[in-house]
Amino acid sequence: MRFENRVALITGGGSGIGAATARLMAREGAKVVVVDLVSDAAQAIAEECGGLALTADVADRAAVEAFVARTAEEHGHLDILVNNAGIGCFGRTPDLEPETWERVIAIDLNAVFYACRAAIPHMTGRNSAIVNTASISGLGGDYGFTAYNAAKAGVINYTRSLAVDHAREGIRANCLCPGLIATPLTAGAKTIPGLEPGWHDTIPMGRAGTPEEMAEVIAFLASDAASYVTGAAFVADGGQTAW
Ligand code: NAD
Repeated sequence: MRFENRVALITGGGSGIGAATARLMAREGAKVVVVDLVSDAAQAIAEECGGLALTADVADRAAVEAFVARTAEEHGHLDILVNNAGIGCFGRTPDLEPETWERVIAIDLNAVFYACRAAIPHMTGRNSAIVNTASISGLGGDYGFTAYNAAKAGVINYTRSLAVDHAREGIRANCLCPGLIATPLTAGAKTIPGLEPGWHDTIPMGRAGTPEEMAEVIAFLASDAASYVTGAAFVADGGQTAW
């Protein structure tokens, strides 16, 4: 029971990697708070986990401050923050509407800052952990994923700032860089224009990862087993970036 009596807030917890993380942490004793834009999804996962469901758009700063405040009111503090909500978006620079760029940056990057800014006062001095879901797209640059690549690169470097700035307050901050994971987010990936038909064959392990495999890495980074790990960008991609 790695998370006995630990309070864990997970954004994008209604689906995919976030839902798997909520389930795993709850199984190991955490009191989970599931935040998602999709109310029914948050409710369903929170019910399964015996946790609290909150509906919010993470791109809305006031909404983020409200769900962090609600968590602190419910539990008195916060031990684990998993900034995981995210959207993908295809579009090379000339074809990418500025509004689309702004929306991707708002959800995939700005929201991480809003949540950390609101949560850190409730996490200080508690041996707490922030885990941000970045992507290997933030390390390299996937073809046509212009805004997404930029946002995830921002998350990786912002996580390093968090780690450095808050290490002495007992807060560790790391990010997970998944490769291709089979979730609703990637369900339509094969139809993205401009990508080679067999693009996922470039994964040495020859398959996509599962949300549960990502949840295991997030749980490790959030747990005391990672007590000397901070500022890391942990790649879990079936060997894709090693090839
Ligand atoms: P998913 O679509 O299954 O889950 C994402 C969840 O985030 C959904 O429940 C969605 O409703 C929620 N969400 C989206 N926008 C939101 C908003 N504005 N406010 C609140 N909630 C919002 O996708 P997933 O694959 O589990 O993605 C989780 C994270 O992992 C994302 O940050 C994604 O960029 C990242 N990631 C995924 C992959 C992959 O291959 N699936 C690879 C690398 C990184």
